[in-house]
Amino acid sequence: MNRVIAIANQKGGVGKTTTAINLSACLADLGKKVLALDLDPQGNMTSGLGVDKDEIESSVYDLLIGNAGIEECICENVLDNLDVLPSNIDLSAAEIEMIGVDNKEFIIKKEMEKIKDKYDFVIIDCPPALSMLTINAMTTADSVLVPIQCEYYALEGLSQLIHTIELVQERLNSSLEIEGVVFTMYDARTNLSLQVVENVKDNLNQNIYKTIIPRNIRLAEAPSYGMPINVYDPKSAGAESYMQLADEVIHRGEEE
Ligand code: ADP
Ligand code: MG
Repeated sequence: MNRVIAIANQKGGVGKTTTAINLSACLADLGKKVLALDLDPQGNMTSGLGVDKDEIESSVYDLLIGNAGIEECICENVLDNLDVLPSNIDLSAAEIEMIGVDNKEFIIKKEMEKIKDKYDFVIIDCPPALSMLTINAMTTADSVLVPIQCEYYALEGLSQLIHTIELVQERLNSSLEIEGVVFTMYDARTNLSLQVVENVKDNLNQNIYKTIIPRNIRLAEAPSYGMPINVYDPKSAGAESYMQLADEVIHRGEEE
């Protein structure tokens, strides 16, 4: 089994990077061999997993512009079972530099073919835009996991995202699936969180993960220490929820 999952939602601040970091680390903790691929120029997945953005020799930017092969870009064994393909702010220029390049939608996919078999899971953190970087993630991926923040405008922009996924399915990657939706930043003290979950369940005809990620301050603190939650505070509610999500993702794959 080998699955490439893109974590995508063009809205910023919904928990993509937090989910990408912690899902990667928890899958690795459960014994799966994982590659965490950072496709956001902010590089927050990179630093959140403890890789210094400013010390990287080759990043996903070098990969996209043909400066380096994929093997050269990977930081190995950042944690047990976990490799990182890092990014930093250089990546913000990639979109421009890719103008006019043939098959630019498939650059990452082509490189990934060389190494995919080494991993059980590749988890891709996408930028908050439906850009060429996100398209590269979607051509490489088997499925898209969509984090939805439990707040008022949760459904806003979702139809646009689903339309983009459908376009990619039609034109670029016919086997792309929607992995499902995961609720993030759930606040049990407010009715709003509950209402959002109910509303999305009623209106969205997609697979929804049973695991709901609570709002948990430890999840917000961990990245500044360069640690995923299962390392930073394994007993926290945040760690428990992401371990549970990882378990669900593994078993979802086995059911198929
Ligand atoms: P995105 O990648 O979609 O922009 P982030 O994962 O960076 O979103 O999350 C946005 C902000 O919310 C960050 O400051 C992050 O630390 C915080 N955050 C994310 N998930 C949680 C959570 N479950 N509990 C508390 N804070 C969270
Ligand atoms: Mg992010």
